[in-house]
Amino acid sequence: MDKVERYKEILEAEAESHHVPILREAERALFLSVLEKSKPVRILEIGTAIGYSMLLLAAHAPQAVIDTVEIDEGRYKRAMSVVNDLGLSCRVHCHLGDAAQVIPTLFPGYDFIFLDGPKGQYMTYIKLIEPLLADEAVVVADNVLFRGMVVGNEYPPHRYRTIVLRLREYISYMKSHYETTIYAAGDGLAVSLKGNRKI
Ligand code: MG
Repeated sequence: MDKVERYKEILEAEAESHHVPILREAERALFLSVLEKSKPVRILEIGTAIGYSMLLLAAHAPQAVIDTVEIDEGRYKRAMSVVNDLGLSCRVHCHLGDAAQVIPTLFPGYDFIFLDGPKGQYMTYIKLIEPLLADEAVVVADNVLFRGMVVGNEYPPHRYRTIVLRLREYISYMKSHYETTIYAAGDGLAVSLKGNRKI
């Protein structure tokens, strides 16, 4: 087994024991197929967590340079150790901080975005990311169906109200500004295409 495969297993086990949310198995195949068809050269990921999806991004888009942002220092350090151990530091850059503060410091030209940070902030992030998008780009957002509460107009349970309403707002914005498909796999994946981008 090569080192990447070994790390995948290690991180899956760590995610499970520390209750760190990572890309669910049910949506992994779809995510990878969108990623591989996109053939991105510059990727921005919001929400590194312990580096599991970053590892998939690096392995399945070997031509890409990746920026990934994480607000939690412990998780950021874990992701950094994976990057260093796999010798990926020349093309994977981990940023520690609040994405709303980090995004405006990045250089434009991203052709693949993976939104997987705080679900209530997707709208804020996409607005900040839009000036950094290449003419043709793919924006993938995870957990957009949030436990099945997002579809329909039902009033969400109080404690999830803000997240659900904001995700509805994100989906409606992305549908009206991009060619957007919502996939029900896992916790829901939104794939939005900018410009003439086809996948
Ligand atoms: Mg997620």
